[in-house]
Amino acid sequence: MREGMRSVMLMTTYECQLRCSYCRVRLGARRMDARTAARGVDLLLSSRAPRLLLNFFGGEPLLAWDLVRAAAERARAGRAGRELTVNLTTNGLLLDEEKIAFLSGAGGRVHLSLDGPHEANRARLAGGRTRAQGAMEAALRRLNASRVPYHANAVATPARAAAFDADLLALEDLGARRIQFGYQVGTLWGDAARRDLLAALDRYEARGGAELVNRVSDSEPVMLKNEILVDADGALYWDGAVFLEAALPRLRETLRLGHLDDAPDVDALEPEPRKCLERLLAAYPPGSGGARIILDNIKTGLALQRRWPGRSLAAGRA
Ligand code: SF4
Repeated sequence: MREGMRSVMLMTTYECQLRCSYCRVRLGARRMDARTAARGVDLLLSSRAPRLLLNFFGGEPLLAWDLVRAAAERARAGRAGRELTVNLTTNGLLLDEEKIAFLSGAGGRVHLSLDGPHEANRARLAGGRTRAQGAMEAALRRLNASRVPYHANAVATPARAAAFDADLLALEDLGARRIQFGYQVGTLWGDAARRDLLAALDRYEARGGAELVNRVSDSEPVMLKNEILVDADGALYWDGAVFLEAALPRLRETLRLGHLDDAPDVDALEPEPRKCLERLLAAYPPGSGGARIILDNIKTGLALQRRWPGRSLAAGRA
């Protein structure tokens, strides 16, 4: 348990309006039903932890807004005096005033997948959907005008690593005050792109003024992150099973923890990162292409962990 916190992530839908080039989720028409969402919330509430985190993920969770809203209300009603945070990861296209007002009253916070200016987003807004950029920037303005805590997310890819400082500065220019960056996983980086990324971060830290959430994050290496995910059909996984599926499909079987029907003890489900690595390498044995990607991505995560060593998975995150 992380500092007395238990978290559960609901995979609300596999639908999304976008097709980001770095996305490793197998998008499609699957969606969680209300009963499964309620049972996922109850799984979180069954924890003995004093602090609870309910994460809504996708796909794009705002395409399933009724489900998100009902699940958040259920969690608030059942939290029994415990601290509850509701986190929504969204591309922002449907983030209007009504939803922001609800989140403001529900202890919500937003992880806005914005990436940066139009140039940075061009690759991910496939299918002639570049109009989406304006809607995403409007969502950022609404969040800035609200009391909902948020951070804007940017994703570094090997191809854009050398220019990533420009993407972060462009996010600031759009008005982002708190930024969290991720790096594309499920793809080979290699030492040269890793060095480019670190050099770009050096340049950004020398010039940038936004709060960089990664400096105090405990989430590296993200390949060994083992948050409990409730899939749309009620199956339980460590989250990498779903977020790497397009690149590493065997992880779904290997990282399965059970099903809501098994009435699991949620506090017993989240094991050490070492166990997560064992399962990853059971699916993709050393020497295989999959193992090369996994170990390469862990190397990137460890490089970032060394850069900001405040808190780390290796220091005991569980
Ligand atoms: S990364 Fe997020 S916004 Fe982009 S296609 Fe995947 S689910 Fe949609």
